[in-house]
Amino acid sequence: MAEQDGKYQDYTETFLPKSGHLRSDKEQADALDNEKTRHMNYPQDLVKSLSLIDKWEFNVFDVSDASKQRPLTYVLYELLKKYDLLSTFKIPTNVLMSFSDKVDAGYRKHRNPYHNPNHAADVAQTTHFFICQTGLLNWLSEVEVFAMIFAAAIHDYEHTGTTNTFHTQTRSPLAVLYNDRSVLENHHVAASFKMLQENKGSNIVAELTRDQFEEFRSLVVDIVLATDMSQHFQQMSQVTDALNNPKELDKVKVMALIVHLADISHAAKCWELHERWSYALTEEYFRQGDREKELGLPCSTLCDRQTVMVPQSQFGFLRFIIEPSFTTLIELFRHIADHYIAKEDAAMNSADVAEKSESSPKRMRRHIVKCRLGTSQDQGDALYPDYTYANVVARLEESGKKWIGNIESNRKKWSTLAEKEKASSSPKDDAKKESPTDSTKNSKENSKSDSSTGTNNENSNNSNSNSSTKTSSNAEEKKN
Ligand SMILES: [Zn+2]
Repeated sequence: MAEQDGKYQDYTETFLPKSGHLRSDKEQADALDNEKTRHMNYPQDLVKSLSLIDKWEFNVFDVSDASKQRPLTYVLYELLKKYDLLSTFKIPTNVLMSFSDKVDAGYRKHRNPYHNPNHAADVAQTTHFFICQTGLLNWLSEVEVFAMIFAAAIHDYEHTGTTNTFHTQTRSPLAVLYNDRSVLENHHVAASFKMLQENKGSNIVAELTRDQFEEFRSLVVDIVLATDMSQHFQQMSQVTDALNNPKELDKVKVMALIVHLADISHAAKCWELHERWSYALTEEYFRQGDREKELGLPCSTLCDRQTVMVPQSQFGFLRFIIEPSFTTLIELFRHIADHYIAKEDAAMNSADVAEKSESSPKRMRRHIVKCRLGTSQDQGDALYPDYTYANVVARLEESGKKWIGNIESNRKKWSTLAEKEKASSSPKDDAKKESPTDSTKNSKENSKSDSSTGTNNENSNNSNSNSSTKTSSNAEEKKN
């Protein structure tokens, strides 16, 4: 594996062939047989941090530290192995490593505080959590699982560290290319497919059949474009509408919504993680504000480091965007459990007494993607989660409590910090500060630019910023 900047050591190199050498089937089989031994090369810290990969408490920063800043490589490898996608889609390990190298390099291109390989690995892991711990997996095909994980990994590929509004305002080449519409999201997905096409040794979708590839590509495009925060309210209302009016869910929209919520999920994680992500994104916005000042442009909403009040805007983002979104997400997973998993359970039970037939449980089970809990370093046999209806519902209830509990607790912490910030600033300073109310007003007055700002998924995460403002304003309008 090529080193990007000489800062990290590549542990995979100790057990994987160099990029460019394609293994024969026999070599591949031998490599898989020897896998346990080879993985003993992982340092202890890396084994420990990866052991949380199936949990909500997973800490991508720990994986990053333990892997010399290569979290995306290790997370992708673990996830694709977990769902057996490496063998299903005949992806040689060295091709996956070469692909991960290139995606990683794309995320490092602009040295962003937030939109970097850590964010990509984090969103991929959270998407995996949503797939395997909520029963969603029972509803998905192998191509769909692959598309969701792939889309999560590349959804901010070559992110410029600036918002869609910035691209539009500065009339950047990307804004011109994509006609000011979801500029960055279009770029992330187009540049990723271009990279696959131009690098045979990195093309992890080379062995998909034509039909599989067409389905995969269409899903990835839809999922990545839906990470544009300006689509958030429309996406949420479509799903709410489907839940309230008994009708078939639009599966692609559900898959896209889940990756979109994984993209903004740090607000539903523990304070330590949420705070760290929030300030990283804030810094990225401030750097944009600095550039805007240099260019003589007005500062975009919440990008001015002299005036922005982070705790207040974060509070609004959690209150008006995150809380309602995760409440709907819980309802959505429950709906999927009630309508798909419950039916399957019933079919399984009736088939116990029935003769073997076309609809026998074994036959049905074959279509269900399996997920191995644990990591590639685990000893012993693979463990598969129990996807009976009762189990899924119980697990869902536990996750839902955790998400809502974290959001409430994070919101209270921002509120306390906002109070302190307010108390410590003088009345004169207050006049200059950009409070959520001001930003809300700005966003109302300037809805066009705001919505495109919110366009970044960053915005999504945007916990802080524009989106939060825009968000709260939109949410308020909705409420009214
Ligand atoms: Zn993102």
